[in-house]
Amino acid sequence: MNFTIPQEITIHKADTSRIHEVDFSALQFGSVFSDHMFSCDFEDGTWKNAQVLPYGPLTISPAAKVFHYGQAVFEGMKAFKDENGGIFMFRPEDNFNRINKSAVRMAMPEFPRELFFGALHAMLKLDSDWIKPGLGNSLYIRPFSIATQVGVSASPSNKYKFIILLSPAQAYYTGDVKVIFSQQFSRAADGGVGFAKAAGNYGAQFYPTNLARERGFQQVIWTDSHQHEYLEEAGTMNIFFRLNDTLITAPNNDRILDGITRKSVLKLAEAMNIPHEVRRITVSEVKQAQTKGELKEIFGAGTAAVISPISAFSHDEKTYELPKLENSYAATFKKRLMEIQYNISDDPFGWRYKVE
Ligand SMILES: *Cc1c(COP(=O)(O)O)cnc(C)c1O
Repeated sequence: MNFTIPQEITIHKADTSRIHEVDFSALQFGSVFSDHMFSCDFEDGTWKNAQVLPYGPLTISPAAKVFHYGQAVFEGMKAFKDENGGIFMFRPEDNFNRINKSAVRMAMPEFPRELFFGALHAMLKLDSDWIKPGLGNSLYIRPFSIATQVGVSASPSNKYKFIILLSPAQAYYTGDVKVIFSQQFSRAADGGVGFAKAAGNYGAQFYPTNLARERGFQQVIWTDSHQHEYLEEAGTMNIFFRLNDTLITAPNNDRILDGITRKSVLKLAEAMNIPHEVRRITVSEVKQAQTKGELKEIFGAGTAAVISPISAFSHDEKTYELPKLENSYAATFKKRLMEIQYNISDDPFGWRYKVE
């Protein structure tokens, strides 16, 4: 669709581009940023000062509430380029809705739709050279909102900044991922903020994940906080199990993030007549299935890696290996999703969003 950038977004172009300093064949995920960023301030009850400006540091008071009480939410999305130079996003409306859902839970103001999409269109056009064509290449988009009111009283901020950064990314190969099913730590609890992309959810995972790493595992699979029996989340991904030919994933609740990749996989499974169940799945069921040879696959699903197959899991100090499959569901879903994202195949679900 043809999009008019709202007048209230002012654009300050960078004098020179840094793109020539970047080695696009050796990108570390999320470590290099494009020439421009978007910034907008919430003050006196409204969003103002919307601008696209050169990427650079911010000046923020050390007393800003974000540093003390963690009022911060974010999103993760991607832009893709096809062989004709067309630029696409994948279901961006869902990211927009989700950051506002996260914001409401953190007592933060919602961000207006026209500014969100206006900012994305303006930035992706200005920095379009940062999106490389070719399967696996993308521009990772990181919108986030932070509390900027000065003062260390524990109450919601009355000032916020909404920022969008763009970071070029290559195919994200996670290698052989071995995981531990968590038996002690939790990432989220009933009534908490697990369903929100709230910054603190991630900081809290680093320590248990480090402990897992020391033992030779890359990730922790989060279980319910009561019994550590129901399998729920994989760090920054949702998690799927394949028992015989049936795909299973946990239902969304207030501990689980409503992933866009997750719901796209479920839709694809339905369209491809792959048996699938959205229900709670327990550690004992998965262990039993593994023993009987019925556990075929476990994989994570999320924007960064799309689909990330898991090769082994550990529970009660015992490690269980997964078979190596020729025609895995993981590979099938990844291929199908990427064909839609890169404008290679048709898009029967209307997920592709052309940036014009
Ligand atoms: C972002 C995220 C996901 C994946 O969501 P997508 O919309 O598919 O990128 C899953 N779980 C958690 C905890 C996340 O933060």
